[in-house]
This record gives sequence, structure tokens and C-alpha cells, in this order.
Amino acid sequence: MQSLLMRTTALFGVSTDGLVQHCLGPEWTEAPSDLLTIKPDNATLDRLSNCLRIPARHMKTLSLHDRFPSIDDQCIAYDSVAVDLDTHKEIPNGRLRFGWCPLCLIEDRAGGADHHYLRLVWSIATTTLCPVHGRPLMEQCHNCYRFAGTPDYALYGKQMTLICPVCFTPLDGRPGYDDVSDRQATEWNDDSQLGRVWQTLRRYEQYCQSILKLRSTRSKKKDIVVEILALLNLLTCAEEPNHLRPMDMLESAYFPAHLKLGYRTHHLKRSFRACHLVERRKALAILICLLENSFAAFGFEPCRRPMQEFRQLMSGASYDQFERHFLNIARFALPM
Ligand SMILES: [Zn+2]
Ligand SMILES: [Zn+2]
Repeated sequence: MQSLLMRTTALFGVSTDGLVQHCLGPEWTEAPSDLLTIKPDNATLDRLSNCLRIPARHMKTLSLHDRFPSIDDQCIAYDSVAVDLDTHKEIPNGRLRFGWCPLCLIEDRAGGADHHYLRLVWSIATTTLCPVHGRPLMEQCHNCYRFAGTPDYALYGKQMTLICPVCFTPLDGRPGYDDVSDRQATEWNDDSQLGRVWQTLRRYEQYCQSILKLRSTRSKKKDIVVEILALLNLLTCAEEPNHLRPMDMLESAYFPAHLKLGYRTHHLKRSFRACHLVERRKALAILICLLENSFAAFGFEPCRRPMQEFRQLMSGASYDQFERHFLNIARFALPM
């Protein structure tokens, strides 16, 4: 939906917000295209489809809730999340944070007449690798290195192309990795151990995607995803008096994540959904290492008693929760 609205507005030279307000009314001021991408109601879709002359049934399939009926705020990657001072509730800003796969974008344009489009799955918090190509998604422009979680569109020849909103460079220019030099990227491409690491991560990510596609309201598999998300939040949450997050204490050359990125989420209890892509990938990697005892394979220091180490990195209350969530995952795997 995001791509459709952005492509339409780029063609006519108006803003996406302006187009949505023209079709739906002036009250649509806060991140309207993101709201329509997450969960549009039927009446709104009918009005929009009348205005844009696109069948409503087609537009419905472009929303996260249609493709992933079990998805909730916890599983969606947001640009930022704020805490309400009165209620202490954490409120996402409504703007989706998209990563992108440069290979998918190159293939979009390879046909000659096709446009770039953002895949819905790229805005799921637990998706950090392309489900098709299995390589890490990017969120940094390869030219100016700014984060481009909400890219723009521009007309390149006859094709609508996703570009960096700051320096206007097409996002499919270089299939590299965020935070990695060109030379290191070549080494990474030839590294068979890293290839296996991406495969393991992708297996977990596809598991989460397959559960989010289910329509049933409760299942044991869905409970496991809830436990995984709770663990990821604890790994990415900084607590007083320690301003570092548990995941910042572990280093791997395969998972470069800068400490300064973490400060944007350090006041949150449910921080995973608002983290940068590289941070979410590292948190997922650490969780898999804990579940499968595979720290060395992922390039982290081999850990003989990993839970002991995490006990030292967390407050007593958080560590108790941490242990509880692992035991719950084990409980869901019991034969019943
Ligand atoms: Zn791809
Ligand atoms: Zn740029």
C-alpha cells in the first residue's frame, strides 16, 4: 500500500499525505499511508479505491493485517516509540520502518517496465533477511549512509524507483551490507560459515512469518512467537543503572551494531520493534545462540555458562523473566 500510494503521488508531484487527505479528508494527518498499510477498514478502502479507481479487493491485499492476520504492534517495525507520561504506555509513532533487499529491487527493474515496490514482509520486526534471497536487508543508503526507513520514489526513465530521501540515490545501486565496507562485503560473500549463519537466522524468521500468516486466534506456535518477542525485548532493553543493553555486551564481527544506536530505545520496555535492523538481527542471533548453544558458530566468544553471563548483565527481576520465557518455550515443546 505504501509503495502504491508513493508511486501514485510521485507521478503527480504531490505528497502522499496530500493525496490521502484529498481522497479521505483533512483529518488524515498522522502517517496516513502507514496507517493504511497496517490495517485499513473496509469503508476507508472503498472511498480510497473510488478515488484512485483501483478495485478495493486489490487494495485490501496490500495491507499487513490482510497478509499477516496474526500481526500486532509488537511484531511491526516502527520508526520510533514514545512513552506516554501519564499512562506509561508505549505508543509507536505509526511510521513503518522498512528495510529493503537490493537484489529484489534490481529484479523489480530488470524486466524493463516494472517499478520498485516495498514488500510488506520487510516491515515485520522479526524479518531482517530477505525471505527470497536469504541475504540481510538494508536500511542505510549506500551513498550518504543515512537511514532510509521511509524511502522516496522518483521516476528514472520509465520506471518508478525507490531512492534515498536525503541524497536521492536509487536504493538498488549497490548490493552490500549495512555498516560493512565494500572489501569486507566481498569477504562476507565468500564466507561459508556466514552463509550457514544467515540460513539459520532465516529459518527462525520464516517460522515467525508463517505463524503471523495464520488466521486462528490461539495456537501453541503463536505462544512460542510471543515468548521469542518477550526475550528479544529483554535483550534490547537497557535498565538503570546500566545504560547498555544485554546484547551490547556480546561482540561478533558478523553482527556489527553500534552502541550509540541503542540510545533511542533505552527508555522502553518493549524496545525490539523500534530498534534498527542491524540491532534486531544481532538480538535474534544472540537468542538463537542461547537456544541452540551456538555462540562460536555465530562468531561470538564461546560461552560455557551463557545463562550465568546474562544473569550478570540484567537486573534480578528482568533475569527472572528471562529465565521464565525460556522455560515457557521448553514447556510449549513438550509432548501433549
Ligand atoms: Zn531479495
Ligand atoms: Zn543517501
